[in-house]
Amino acid sequence: MAGPGEFELIQEYFLSQFSGSDPAAGVELGIGDDCALLIPPPGKMLATSVDTLVAGVHFPADADPYRIASRALRVNLSDLAAMNAEPLWFTLALTLPQSDAAWLDSFARGLVDTARQFNITLVGGDTTKGPLSITIQVTGATGQPLRRSGAGEGDLVYVSHSLGAAAAALPLILGETAGSSEQQQQADAAYYFPEPQFELVRQMGVFASAALDISDGLLADLGHICSASQLGAEIDLGQLPIAALAQAAGTERALQLAAAGGDDYQLCFTVPERHQAALAQLQLPITAIGKMTADNGVRCTYGGQPWLPQQTGYQHF
Ligand code: ADP
Ligand code: MG
Repeated sequence: MAGPGEFELIQEYFLSQFSGSDPAAGVELGIGDDCALLIPPPGKMLATSVDTLVAGVHFPADADPYRIASRALRVNLSDLAAMNAEPLWFTLALTLPQSDAAWLDSFARGLVDTARQFNITLVGGDTTKGPLSITIQVTGATGQPLRRSGAGEGDLVYVSHSLGAAAAALPLILGETAGSSEQQQQADAAYYFPEPQFELVRQMGVFASAALDISDGLLADLGHICSASQLGAEIDLGQLPIAALAQAAGTERALQLAAAGGDDYQLCFTVPERHQAALAQLQLPITAIGKMTADNGVRCTYGGQPWLPQQTGYQHF
């Protein structure tokens, strides 16, 4: 089915869904001019981040467009959450092999549903022809940013919810292995609908000294907190909360998936000793897995023995 031309496409799928002007959302002027005009919330810093998802690298080329949109926006929102920023605006650079009305309709629905859920609005973008790729830039506002560099020696290291589901999901998503219908559902949720941890960071943000979202794997990403904070970390992998989908792969494989697999978008964060009691009072879905040390590097033990990952995380180059 032949789709609309560039300008009809922007009008029909994006401009019609997101209002051109919305002063309450800080949008003086949205989609349609050379630039959007945006009004930052007084007294806050703007937090901005961009992520590209390339077909065949970050999602299967024939994936459901609704899900591609969900994943593309959610992984970007996750960066805002990890920084303790509230979502405001995003832009979308869309490269499409062809103009396909059915594909665009589903993609736009995924984008609108996700944007509404997280209270963020589309204010501009770019539309080009080429191999399918989606670039989203998000902007949020923060009064108390959580940097990677803020961890102190002796701070406890926490992770949110559980790890390993998205890495365990990948072979199911790619159709390389078959699972039960419950496992297929868990895989779909983990891979295409990762949950940006806004609610959690709103509660623990005041206590944390450093944070990031786990996109490349716990050990690789905790390594970023370590190097930014000029410290190391000791992790007891016996404490690691492992997702049910990963557990189904058996103990050793599950550990690999949870410690080194990527794409979960859970938070890894550090909390000074003096805040432990107040944090515990909140009864959040978080687990302490180790602590920050003066020695550089991330060291893992399991059952009291040193443990080495087969790989630490995904790198493009
Ligand atoms: P220009 O040539 O000035 O860059 P464009 O023709 O690329 O403008 O875009 C026209 C308007 O439509 C701009 O306001 C731009 O932000 C918006 N736009 C283009 N593509 C998208 C998209 N995929 N999503 C949202 N807005 C878009
Ligand atoms: Mg343009």
